[in-house]
Amino acid sequence: MNVWFYEEHKENLRISYRVKKVLAHKKTSYQELVVLDMENYGRTLVLDGAVQTTVRDEFIYHEMIAHVPLFTHPNPEKVLVIGGGDGGTVRETLKHKEVKEVHLVEIDPEVVAAAREYFPEISSGLINERVHIHYTDGIKFVAEKEAAFDVIIVDSSDPVGPAVGLFGAEFYANVARALKPDGLFVAQTESPWGNEDILPRIYAGIRASFPIVRMYLATVPTYPGWLWSFTLGSKKYDPLAVDVNRIPDLGFRYYTPELHRAAFVLPRFVSQLLESPAEPF
Ligand code: SAM
Repeated sequence: MNVWFYEEHKENLRISYRVKKVLAHKKTSYQELVVLDMENYGRTLVLDGAVQTTVRDEFIYHEMIAHVPLFTHPNPEKVLVIGGGDGGTVRETLKHKEVKEVHLVEIDPEVVAAAREYFPEISSGLINERVHIHYTDGIKFVAEKEAAFDVIIVDSSDPVGPAVGLFGAEFYANVARALKPDGLFVAQTESPWGNEDILPRIYAGIRASFPIVRMYLATVPTYPGWLWSFTLGSKKYDPLAVDVNRIPDLGFRYYTPELHRAAFVLPRFVSQLLESPAEPF
């Protein structure tokens, strides 16, 4: 079959994938949702034209967004995941035995329904007595909480549509308030290769609310630019102070104790980007 899906990254850049089959295509109340079976990456979730997750490379993103913060906090009992309706971040979070409650706040119930139907290996953690799902806007949910969570993970889509406010300084201030006095959070913060216009602004917003702020990177082949960033904001614990020799093997495919430290080593153009003056959103 010679059918191609392209993701429009920039006006002059499109990334194309050969499609085996279109499994689902609908307009939800929030976004356009497509599930594709692609030749190279298998089943793939696409929201508003942007690839969110594929069965082939999802482990990279989900392990890195979950295990770096969860091993930085010494006792992450109560965890909030914002976005992440595919369930991959929740699945990784549940590997930590000390986590007693995971609250998933996803704005779009149709994403969770599609994950359950087409991505059982990613959404497997969503049916678990430790997991509580809230179908509401993460911005509103966080604004109403105070000193409630040990770790918050912002597993959002790109800063367009319903996710725009998840990248703003006001949201990060509310995240800080929703965390306990020694809490920490992490957010996916787009690519330094392609999103260099917004990345310093996101970083500036996080710095305004957290004393310890560290960016780390992973290579995610299906995200535009491949090089993907995550930013960790913490009130007390420094991810670089973690004794990596004490990290147990929870069956990782990407994350390793060595990588926990190495991921924070930034190429010069990225650290220069973060030093550039920027107004938060
Ligand atoms: N790993 C992904 C990426 O970087 O492309 C993110 C995956 S996850 C599917 C993103 C989820 O965030 C989507 O399901 C979307 O519905 C949800 N979302 C967007 N804005 C939101 C908001 N304001 N509150 C809660 N969830 C939101």
